[in-house]
Amino acid sequence: MDTIREPQRQTPVCHDCDVCVVGGSTTGVYAAVAAARLGARVALVEAMGYFGGMATAALVNCWHTRFDDSGKVALFAGLITETMERLKRRDAVIDRGHHAYWQYAFNPFELVVELDELVREQSNIRPFLHTRFVAPVMEGPGHVAAAIIEDKTGRRAIRAAMFIDATGDGDLVHRAGFETYRRDVIQPPTTCLVANGFTATNEEVKEAVFDPRTPGALRPGFLWGAPWPGSTLRMIAGTRVHGADCSDADQLTRAEMEGRRQVHAILDLARRHVPGCEDMRLAALPAHLGVRESRHARCLHQLTEGEVLRGERFLDAIANGSYPVDVHAGDGDGLIFRHLDGREQRCYMSAPTVEGRWAPEGHVPATYYQVPYRCLVPRGARNALAAGRCLDADEGAFGAVRVMVNTAQTGQAAGVAAWVALDTARAVGEIDTDRLRSRLAQQGAVVL
Ligand SMILES: Cc1cc2nc3c(=O)[nH]c(=O)nc-3n(C[C@H](O)[C@H](O)[C@H](O)COP(=O)(O)OP(=O)(O)OC[C@H]3O[C@@H](n4cnc5c(N)ncnc54)[C@H](O)[C@@H]3O)c2cc1C
Repeated sequence: MDTIREPQRQTPVCHDCDVCVVGGSTTGVYAAVAAARLGARVALVEAMGYFGGMATAALVNCWHTRFDDSGKVALFAGLITETMERLKRRDAVIDRGHHAYWQYAFNPFELVVELDELVREQSNIRPFLHTRFVAPVMEGPGHVAAAIIEDKTGRRAIRAAMFIDATGDGDLVHRAGFETYRRDVIQPPTTCLVANGFTATNEEVKEAVFDPRTPGALRPGFLWGAPWPGSTLRMIAGTRVHGADCSDADQLTRAEMEGRRQVHAILDLARRHVPGCEDMRLAALPAHLGVRESRHARCLHQLTEGEVLRGERFLDAIANGSYPVDVHAGDGDGLIFRHLDGREQRCYMSAPTVEGRWAPEGHVPATYYQVPYRCLVPRGARNALAAGRCLDADEGAFGAVRVMVNTAQTGQAAGVAAWVALDTARAVGEIDTDRLRSRLAQQGAVVL
């Protein structure tokens, strides 16, 4: 590759703090708030003009159940339920209670403002919006000394004792030289759309959009939708950009434009072929296409699908979930669900769902699974953690833990872990995880 040499430069340090969180989805915001509530001085760096990540910028407005499969054990609380309570006060969330699929559908723009409030309430968090992390400054093996950022002001540095990578794409972990990996086939990104005038069912729209006999039909992928509280709008997730790795800038550009082309195709096909959708109109497009998967950090432990489906308990567990294994075909039609109760469903757009089992009839099912802290600790890192979807998990385990009620728990845990590491002068891989778990519990998180 042709290269140019940039002139050497001195970069001003704009902030000195205890914990620098890179990426401001709910994962990153909860990491920042959790550390700040323990007294840490925190920097929170977000590339977009608002917080929330996929929940806001990509319009993914559903969060999954709070309970285990028995419906009796609450799996999370803390900052997640605090956020949902705030949205309830604004009449901006539908709460269906324990439900096999989503529990909460919310207005993502209300979430944007609530996350601002959550951050603003902590005077020891300095937020950086419209700010991209571009490079780490390393000082000794495994030690990140500063994050170089670029924003409207120019190129600046944030010096911190601890760093949390909540970029989803593992930008910090990767650029710091810690090992990362990408699967050969990754779950595809999707551009969501918000429409009014949608009076049909998802099933009816699917038929029109993916029927190969229809001129302009999309290649079979997957389509679902969710209500938009307090309005007649509907979020529809039906596009799929196969083969796009969104941690690669050129592929991200192509995927953004291809996703929007498919949005138009869905609207046109629905208007033409679905009774009741003749007046369907585009009400909103996301600021960012929805990224399901890209890079992962190679950590002290890789969570496996077996551990998830068996409901393996971990002494260093920092998150609990019951959302099933849900793997969107990276290169084809449909998706696979593997439920904790032993059922397996292969859902297609071009053929009926195939019902089967991954476990024999009569097996005693787990009702929830856990994520151990070690899945957030990049190998070789002394003061950096990976939270959110860049954690270490195999394909099936990732299919389950990637949903936001799970990634958000890893954020809160990373914030507390960073503080524990600082407080006890330990490397992130050497902290006392009993102390981490008890601090998390004190913050209102569910620790099982
Ligand atoms: C179409 C679609 C539907 C989905 N459906 C659901 C669902 O119904 N329910 C559910 O719970 N989950 C769902 N998911 C999964 C879920 O949205 C993601 O797994 C989750 O948002 C991941 O959270 P995260 O914090 O790791 O990353 P993200 O939400 O991707 O957030 C990363 C943040 O980091 C910022 N960032 C990235 N790089 C940089 C940088 N270099 N500098 C500064 N900031 C940076 C980004 O702007 C972003 O705000 C869906 C995903 C998609 C794409």
